[in-house]
Amino acid sequence: MLERQAAAAPALEAKNPFELRVDLGRDVPESDVRNALATGDMGFLHSFTTGSAVDGPGVRVVAWTAGCMWRCLYCHNPDTWKMTNGLPVSVTRASEELRKYRRGLGVMAGGFTLSGGDPLMQHRFAVKLFAAAKGMGIHTALDTNGYYGDRLSDAELQSIDLVLLDIKEWDPERHRALTGMDNRPTLEFAERLAARKRPVWLRYVLVPGLTDNVAGIAELAAFAGRLGNIERVDVLPFHQMGRFKWERLGIPYTLGSVSPPTTELVERTCAAFRNEGLRAY
Ligand code: SF4
Repeated sequence: MLERQAAAAPALEAKNPFELRVDLGRDVPESDVRNALATGDMGFLHSFTTGSAVDGPGVRVVAWTAGCMWRCLYCHNPDTWKMTNGLPVSVTRASEELRKYRRGLGVMAGGFTLSGGDPLMQHRFAVKLFAAAKGMGIHTALDTNGYYGDRLSDAELQSIDLVLLDIKEWDPERHRALTGMDNRPTLEFAERLAARKRPVWLRYVLVPGLTDNVAGIAELAAFAGRLGNIERVDVLPFHQMGRFKWERLGIPYTLGSVSPPTTELVERTCAAFRNEGLRAY
């Protein structure tokens, strides 16, 4: 596969985390997409962003991968669903990009986070990027819905210092209605990470009327509390910042009338996790 020449290629670094990006890999032949997935030498990245303070410990460089099989009703990056919306980038180029920030990340006790889309759609690329980051002494974090966690071997899990595991909903039926997918593989990945004693930050997007079921949150919190490896829980208030992407992409958006959760609802949800001995924010 030919990586686009730097002069002609769109910038890898996004102007902001909500920049709409489409069709950056549209010229890549289907056979090259398959080859990239098989080898991991090339991946499809929506963008790089720097200076994130919310995607793991310290200040982070975040690479956002393209490709996700889920269809979460609240997704704020639907332009990452399609892999060829991303820019084809070699592991070498992505590693060089990361190398620029190595010293700064060390000073700021930060690291590199791979997010998406879902990075495990391109798990071979992810594994190679994490290995490159570890080779530079950079802390690594994987932000994933966990559905394809079984694609990673136990040895590969060791190159990931932290997993930011997005659990969308406890109840299987509500989870399917919310995401279009089953939550069992995600929960099994959570159990496997616990058995391997891999550090996890659990992330839960709180949407009024959709993911605020009291009993469901209590069950999820009890599950998380039993795992023993959840270092913290981030309750992420729903927002409308990605709405314009749905509209620009012509995808029907059903949450237009939903407001962000109140402070009380966020606090009540955090309290459910704290009741199970977890740190929740
Ligand atoms: S898993 Fe993430 S990227 Fe995929 S649809 Fe859901 S919110 Fe969007």
